[in-house]
Amino acid sequence: MFGKLGLYARVFGYVLVVLGKELKHVLSTALVRHRARLFGSTPSDQRDRTIVIVGASFAGHHVARLVAGQLPPKCRYRVVVVEPNSHFHFTWVLPRFCVVRGHEQKAFIPYGRYVQCSPGVLEWIQDRVASIGKTHVRLEKSGEAIRYDCLVVATGSGVKTGLPSRVNATEKTVGVELVRQVQSAIEAAETVVVAGGGAVGVEVATDAKNSYPDKTIILVHPRPAVMHRFGKRLQSEALAGLERLGVEVVLGDRVMDEDSEAKRVTLRSGREIHCDLFLNCTGQSPCSDVLRSLSPQSVSSDGHIQVKPTLQIADDEFPNIYACGDVTHTETPCPNARSAMRQAATVARNVLRVVDGKQPTHVYRHHWVDSFIKLTLGLDRSATFIGDGHSDLMFKTRENDVTLMIKSTWTRMGLKPFEDDSYSGDANEKIEG
Ligand SMILES: Cc1cc2nc3c(=O)[nH]c(=O)nc-3n(C[C@H](O)[C@H](O)[C@H](O)COP(=O)(O)OP(=O)(O)OC[C@H]3O[C@@H](n4cnc5c(N)ncnc54)[C@H](O)[C@@H]3O)c2cc1C
Repeated sequence: MFGKLGLYARVFGYVLVVLGKELKHVLSTALVRHRARLFGSTPSDQRDRTIVIVGASFAGHHVARLVAGQLPPKCRYRVVVVEPNSHFHFTWVLPRFCVVRGHEQKAFIPYGRYVQCSPGVLEWIQDRVASIGKTHVRLEKSGEAIRYDCLVVATGSGVKTGLPSRVNATEKTVGVELVRQVQSAIEAAETVVVAGGGAVGVEVATDAKNSYPDKTIILVHPRPAVMHRFGKRLQSEALAGLERLGVEVVLGDRVMDEDSEAKRVTLRSGREIHCDLFLNCTGQSPCSDVLRSLSPQSVSSDGHIQVKPTLQIADDEFPNIYACGDVTHTETPCPNARSAMRQAATVARNVLRVVDGKQPTHVYRHHWVDSFIKLTLGLDRSATFIGDGHSDLMFKTRENDVTLMIKSTWTRMGLKPFEDDSYSGDANEKIEG
């Protein structure tokens, strides 16, 4: 009882701190832009120091926002962001939009409004960093070399098999089409096998069964419980949610082979399942290859970038290289967008100290509140779980927004939902609420 009360109080305190930091950022950014308007800012061609940010998802985009927004107008630094995707890929809604039609274009949010800064500060390049050298990064498409004084690696994680976990396409038009292909494949299938009982697998399996109750949906997970990285209460709730809808759950077994022509998957136990569609929701791995040749010692055997508490990479030869988000190895047990953004804030504060001629001293500490999760269990239910290892809280909620509040995400990113001049999808898509 007291454990839970303490937990509520600490969650409340955490939310206040987060809101306070956001307010501070908004005020200081407004002040910087006001100073730039009054006294001018250094033109971009006179900014001879460069902060390069590689990757602009939850981590890199947030670093860009905090650093570009707070760089003093008269300073010598500029920020260059390198990101291959035309739009921000909002991962949270991908399992849902792979099942439910008509909203897929909303998962791809235009870049542009989230980062507010003085003129001349920001350069945005749509490309991929092919390699990182001691002083420059090399771009994949243009071949251009960009010199850096300070580098932030925020390349996240990926999965070769793509959806429902990740959209392996850089252009929105292609991404939207890929999501629609999964929707059609689920609609056409009689039996779907989903591999992986983490959040993505549970969400896509429950949404598919909820949308198509007559289909056979089988979820295969190698552990004794689904959602095994979270507390027991969420594990039980997730299992109950799957079973309530009629998803067949196979625990303690693993998909070893998938033969799409023979329409068959084979499990470790030897069981063969005939299925029309196999959805792989396992196996995300960190995208650290760009750093490996420069600093092999800072890349662990599982591909994560090893970092110091200041989030400088764990290689004394490169104190000017930072890493944050899913690509890093930190004490965060279940990396997610919140922990990526809190790491981004630490990196941003350190980079701003360096700009100011000081040493980077801010350290990242995992906060257990970052690991909270809201798990959908079908189209109209969810479970929110938060635990500190001793006590936990779980809320079961009835949901009435099939789009998982994507509208407010667009608003938070400074945009009018769902206006996107760069996307020439069908006109009805753009005005749909
Ligand atoms: C399906 C799904 C649902 C999720 N749901 C939630 C949720 O509900 N709540 C939550 O908190 N978390 C959720 N997560 C986790 C969350 O998405 C990740 O923790 C978060 O995306 C990590 O952000 P990141 O910026 O570190 O990396 P990523 O999001 O992986 O982004 C990395 C970025 O770097 C870019 N990049 C990669 N290589 C290069 C290169 N060589 N050069 C330039 N750019 C490069 C990529 O294009 C990408 O934009 C979910 C994840 C998935 C897959």
